[in-house]
Parts: sequence; C-alpha cells; structure tokens
Amino acid sequence: MNLCSKEWQRYKNKWIIRIFAGKFNPMKCLTVVGARPQFIKAAVVSRTISQYTNIEEVIVHTGQHFDNCMSNIFFQEMSIPIPRYNLGICNLTHGAMTGQMLEEIEDILMKEQPDVVIVYGDTNSTLAGALAAKKLHIKVAHVEAGLRSFNMNMPEEINRILVDRISDWLFCPTNTAVNNLHNEGFDHFPCMVQQCGDVMYDAAMFYAPHAQKPAMEIPEKFILCTIHRAENTDSQENIKSILQGLEEIGAQIPIIIPLHPRTKNILHRLHFNFDQSPIHFIDPVGYFEMIYLLQHCALVVTDSGGVQKEAFFFQKNCVILREETEWVELVQQGYNAIAGTNPQNIVQTIQEFLDRKMDFSMPLYGDAHAGEKIVKTLLQA
Ligand code: UDP
Repeated sequence: MNLCSKEWQRYKNKWIIRIFAGKFNPMKCLTVVGARPQFIKAAVVSRTISQYTNIEEVIVHTGQHFDNCMSNIFFQEMSIPIPRYNLGICNLTHGAMTGQMLEEIEDILMKEQPDVVIVYGDTNSTLAGALAAKKLHIKVAHVEAGLRSFNMNMPEEINRILVDRISDWLFCPTNTAVNNLHNEGFDHFPCMVQQCGDVMYDAAMFYAPHAQKPAMEIPEKFILCTIHRAENTDSQENIKSILQGLEEIGAQIPIIIPLHPRTKNILHRLHFNFDQSPIHFIDPVGYFEMIYLLQHCALVVTDSGGVQKEAFFFQKNCVILREETEWVELVQQGYNAIAGTNPQNIVQTIQEFLDRKMDFSMPLYGDAHAGEKIVKTLLQA
C-alpha cells in the first residue's frame, strides 16, 4: 500500500475504532479529482468523511493539474489525504485525456470496488470518473450538479450535462441548479437531486481564518483578476481585447493577476510584453493567499466560475469576463455583472462597480454545511 507513515497511522486508527464500534463493513467511496477547483471542493467533503468511522475514502488524482502551485499546495494547506493513485495524465487533447483517464480509472475501480464514486464540477476528470464508474454499475455522486451556462461550445458544459445524466446523487449548490435539472426532466430519472448548498462556501468560511498575505507588496487598493477559460485563452481576439481593457484600468488602479499556466503560455506565444504592462502578474497562489487577496481587494474581475462566487463570499462585487454565467443569481441580484470581452465594456463595467457598497448577507449558497449534508445522504443509501 502506497501510504506515508502519518497516513498509515490515521488509516490504522480508523480501523481500530471501526472494529471496536462493530462496523466491519464501512462504505467505501472513491473520489476522483484532477484540477485546482476540485481540490478545494474535495477538501470539504474529505474532511467530513474523515470524521466518520463507517466510511472510507480512496482518492484518485488524474494529474490534470500537477505542479506545486496548481496542485500540491492545496493538498498541503487543506490537509487533503494523499491520493492513493496519481495518474499523471495532462497536456493532452480533450479526447485523449478523457480516454486515457477512463481506461486507468476503470482499472482502479475494478481493483478497489468502491460503493460510490464522488466527482466534482465539470472537468474531463469529472466525466472520466463518472463514466468509468457508471459502466461498472458503481453509483456516482456528482457534487456541483445542475449548473448550466447553456453554451454548448464550452467543454465544461458538455461534461456537466453528461455527468449529471448518469449520476445517482446530484448535489446541487443552488435553487437555480435544481430548477435546471427539473426543466431537463430529471424528476423522471432514477436519481436523487438534493439542494445541499455550495461546498465552496463551506471551504471559504472554514479556511478564511487561515488567510495568508502573499510575499509581495500589496497595494492598499487593487483589483484582483483571474483569466483562464478556454473561450478566452484559445481566442487571440478575446485575450487581446480583455488585456486591452484591463491595461486601461491598470493605468489608474493596480490590478493583480495570479496567472494561470495556460494563460501564461498563450501570452508568451503572443509575445505579450509583461515588462511594459501596468498589470501586476504573479504566479498562481495557494488557496490561503487567494483568500487574503479576495478579502483585501476592491473588486474582482474574472472568467472563473469559482472566483465569481468567492467574490460574493468575501463581500466583493465581481465583473465577469464572459458572455454568460452559471451563477446567474449573483447577476440577478446585482452583485456581479457580465462584461464579456469587449475592452470598452470591461472598462465601463469596472468603473461602475469599483466603489459600489452592497449588503452581501443574502444566503444564496447555503449554510456552510454542504459537506456534512452530502456525506450524511451518502451514508443513508
Ligand atoms: N485559486 C487559487 N489560486 C489562484 C487562482 C485561483 O487558489 O491563483 C482558487 C480560487 O480561489 C477558487 C479556485 O481556485 O477556489 C478556482 O479555480 P479556477 O478558477 O481554476 O476554476 P473554475 O472555478 O473556473 O472552474
């Protein structure tokens, strides 16, 4: 067994407790993760699982995100158990990546024989994990189910729809997500749809006291920005016009961008002049530093799904660098605004939202106990 000594001790203790509790047959769940937002979501559910003696978790890391600042740091900061399997599958086309994951996860499932496979969000790892499990008649739990952008050009949208359709438990973060499933006829499918709240809200509330200042000078007033969506990075036109808008704003108020490796590669390929830019580009930060930046910024500008909500969790408005969003309630309530990729729209929307003061107490994402609700539901199965 590939476990480090601390991990082994924890595993052994768990079994001793189980034997004394007379629970020889715990539920075994297998978690599939691969990308940064999934580590943060899985940390919440894994921490809850570790509090129960009658459920055992095996983690599979597909390797989609692999280096220190996109993967390891999250496992360390949030004490996520070390994955029993690390598949190292990365930097491939969508089909090759999903296919290779599917094959390797199937082998692991046949060996581990879990009762349930837990998948998160909307990446290729989510799809491969769910599909491998379902074909082996292993139950699938999808955390962050029911989200829709209604943009079928997004790889994430395709993954979400397929995974939702084959899941046995659909854990929805919002009422909007439940309604989306209802509208697609899920009430007639043999599955359980539960509105449990958002595990990312659990994570934000639980880890907020651990916020850590990045090792750099942080301006008193700044905008926090992230850009990584394929629809922006894969289109020269989009990425250039986003940067044009941001540079105009960056000349007036500092903008900090923890730069996603994919965006960095594209910008290098486009010979973007980092030295001349008024934007402060930094390496991707860990979650604790990200929380600090979210807590201290004046405004969030992003194309990330998770960061749109985290802006709200940390009481900040957010300008969205996309044409649509899955988190529609934040736009409907006036917290967030869709600016798209047009430079003038970006500048104008940022200026409108910069010094806006709002009440962020609306409970849109549950009560920060989504993780417990998920684990309790699985144990009742
Ligand atoms: N994040 C982070 N460091 C960064 C950028 C993002 O810890 O440098 C976190 C962020 O706080 C959020 C998650 O990564 O919890 C979002 O991931 P990402 O934007 O890659 O994916 P998406 O949410 O769009 O699927």
